[in-house]
Formats: sequence, C-alpha cells, structure tokens
Amino acid sequence: MQHVIVGAGPAGVVAAETLRKGDRAADIVLIGDEPEPPYSRMAIPYVLEGMIEQSGTYLRKAQGHYEDLGIQYRQGRAEALAAADGTLTLEGGEAVSYDRLLIATGATPLSPPVPGLDLPGVHNCWTLADCREIAALLGDDANVVLIGAGFIGCIIMEALAKRCGTLSVVEMEDRMVSRMMDATAGGMLERWCAAKDIRVLTSARVTAIEAAKGAGGDKAVVLDSGERLDAHLVVLAVGVAPNIGFLEGSGIRTDHGVLVNEHLESSAAGVFAAGDVAQGLDFSTGEYSVHAIQPTATEHGRIAALNMLGRRAHYKGSLNMNVLATVGLVSSSFGSWEGVAGGDSGVAVDEDAFKYLRLEFEGDHLVGALGLGLTDHVGVIRGLIQNRTALAEWKEKLLENPHRVMEAYVAHSQT
Ligand SMILES: Cc1cc2nc3c(=O)[nH]c(=O)nc-3n(C[C@H](O)[C@H](O)[C@H](O)COP(=O)(O)OP(=O)(O)OC[C@H]3O[C@@H](n4cnc5c(N)ncnc54)[C@H](O)[C@@H]3O)c2cc1C
Repeated sequence: MQHVIVGAGPAGVVAAETLRKGDRAADIVLIGDEPEPPYSRMAIPYVLEGMIEQSGTYLRKAQGHYEDLGIQYRQGRAEALAAADGTLTLEGGEAVSYDRLLIATGATPLSPPVPGLDLPGVHNCWTLADCREIAALLGDDANVVLIGAGFIGCIIMEALAKRCGTLSVVEMEDRMVSRMMDATAGGMLERWCAAKDIRVLTSARVTAIEAAKGAGGDKAVVLDSGERLDAHLVVLAVGVAPNIGFLEGSGIRTDHGVLVNEHLESSAAGVFAAGDVAQGLDFSTGEYSVHAIQPTATEHGRIAALNMLGRRAHYKGSLNMNVLATVGLVSSSFGSWEGVAGGDSGVAVDEDAFKYLRLEFEGDHLVGALGLGLTDHVGVIRGLIQNRTALAEWKEKLLENPHRVMEAYVAHSQT
C-alpha cells in the first residue's frame, strides 16, 4: 500500500506516524514544501523572544526520526491532483502515485488589501522563514506596527513587545480577538495591553503602507483616520485561508477548505484531509468548519490515518476552543461562547482584577464559555461541554456563581 501525505506540519507528521504504527510494511511518503524539518508554528513566538533556537520548534527532535520509522520525508510542492488516476503532480512535473492520499497542506496568511505590502520590512509571521526576517529587524530602537489583533496577532504580541522599542497594534474590528472574545473581554484585554505600554487602536483601518524615511522608521502605516504610524517593521496578522489552490480541477469538493466526512475522507474515495486545510465537523454546531488550531490538526491527522489504514474511525467533531495568552493575560473561549437562541448566561466579572467568566447554557447543558484571567477552569469547562453533562440543579448554582464550575464538574464526575 502506498500512502502519500502532502504537507509536513503537525497533521501530516501525526498521520505518518499513525500509519506506520498500524502498518509495518506500507510505503509512507511525507512531502513538505518548506526548507526545514517538520516544525510547529506554535513555537515561533518563543524563537522570536529568543527563548529557544529554531531547532526547538522541530516536531520531532531525534536525528533520523523519520528514516528510522521508514517514513520517506522529502521536499516538494504539490501543484495538481488527478484524483481519478491516483496521481499527484509536483512542481517540476514529477508524478507521484498513491493508493491513499492525505491532504494536510495547512493554510496561508491573508493580505490586507492595501498598497505597500511589498516594501522591505513588511512581513507575515507564519513560517520559520518569516520569523527569521522579523527577528533580524527587532531591537531596542525598533518601532513596530502589528496589523491585526486576532488569535495569531495576540499570540506574537508579547514576543514583539519584549524585543522592540514601541509596539502599536491596529485592529479594524471594534475589539481585540473579536472571533473569540465579547465586548467586555475585548475591552479588558485592550486596557491590559495599554498598561504594558502597547498602543492598541481598534476600529482602525490601514489604508496604505508607504516608504517614508524619518526618525521613527523607513515606513509609515497610514490609517483611515489620517494618522501615520512610523515603523521600522510592520507585521501582518490578518487571518489565514486553507491551501486548496492546487486542488483546482481535481474533482475534490471544497468550500472554505476541503470538505470531509466523519471519517475525514474527501469527496474522492481514498483521498483524506486533515488540519488547517480541512473543513470538518464542528462538535458544537454539527456544521462543517475550519478550526485552524494545532490540537484539531493532530487529532484530524490521527483519525484520517486510521481511516487510511482501513479502520472506520469516526471523528466526533472538534470543539471550537481557543486558549491564548496576550502579553501574559490568558483568555479562553469554548464552543458556542456567544450563546444560543433561548439559552441562559451566567456572568462574573471583576474589571479591576482582569478576571471574567461567562458561561452559556442550552437547557441544563453547558454549551459555551469565555474566560479571562483564569486558567484552572479550562479542562473542566472543556470536559463539561464535550461530555454533554446534564447539570440539573447545578445549572442554577452556576448561573448565580459561574466560578463554582469546578465544584459542578466534581459533583458530576462522582455520579
Ligand atoms: C505564530 C503562530 C502561533 C500559533 N500558536 C498556536 C497556538 O498557541 N495554539 C494553536 O492551537 N495553534 C497555534 N497556531 C496555529 C497552528 O500552528 C496551526 O493550526 C497548525 O500548524 C496546523 O497544522 P497543519 O499541519 O494543518 O498545517 P501547517 O502546520 O501549516 O503545515 C502544513 C504544511 O504543508 C505545506 N504545504 C502547503 N502547501 C503545500 C503544497 N502544495 N505542497 C507541499 N506542501 C505544502 C506548508 O508549507 C506547511 O509546511 C499558531 C500559528 C502561528 C503562525
């Protein structure tokens, strides 16, 4: 059996290892287009901060890991797929045949629609190559403008803030991390950043990046208000889109990402998809969406590989769950955190202490939550949502005091 995996990120690597565990004899080819050993983007902020070397991001650190497992890891970029013939074409024209294929090509950063993105010193922060470019421009005198205060923007903010002179953040939404935080939490995050000398401008749109030599840098980020922010370095973090371009004409059904069923199989038999490129089942909504986070990628990779081995493993759906530290302040969101029609909410907020907890119920089930400044509750909330625990009388107690969520969990784990 010839298994081919295109994309050597966390989804691809976990899939390759799962395949080897389940089949000692199969041919396993892992194809990646980046010029490094497979690595974790999650560790990039630690490289930027100088806490680890680039090699610290590698997903598997032992020399010869892939060879020892009989996994053929090779460089290459997939350009086209003929699903009907079982052939993948690489850049340069080489054709690679497969019996089972996993598409694990991840995502690519989006660009804001403004002129000036091609100026030197304007970078995404998505790959290790980006990280090297950014690190070279950081320093005590550097003025840095970060465009985008979403999940990735907030994750890299601390590393940038620690290694530059001034950091300004421009966000077009009315609050930070608007896809995982409500107005209360977003406002608290903004105050937290201001207290750390990071200027956050929300409801602000960048209209251009211009070359403009001056004391504050060699560029200016121009805002719709007319304000100009001088910068030596501009970092873009405005979202990502799944890498599905090479599937054009392949017959594989795509929407936002590659559409997969509960076995992570695409519309073409024998072709699977996993990770940031896959539009898979959402645990909370029952709909199909892209959850671009690493835990979803690795779980997708594992389940897809089991199905490639012929074991009919079911994917129960990923919980839309994000845990994020923004310059030290931990925020988390789970499932239907914005609430559901006809549902109930329990809220506890302490603005001065930067602590906030919001629980969302449907009937007596916890279906979503938001947390700020809290860490202990993460596993407990996830457990209550994923186990679809019927909370009975505990629902009223939690509406009164959401912080009793640990007690509720313990009470139900003993029944
Ligand atoms: C700075 C940063 C911090 C992050 N922090 C977190 C975090 O704290 N928690 C979290 O859960 N997630 C985090 N993420 C997101 C997380 O890294 C992704 O969800 C995860 O990498 C997805 O894994 P993947 O295997 O699906 O895709 P990727 O890791 O993107 O791997 C896909 C690989 O496929 C390659 N590829 C693409 N197209 C082709 C092609 N045509 N041919 C061959 N190869 C191709 C890509 O170059 C890439 O190497 C972070 C991301 C970044 C950038």
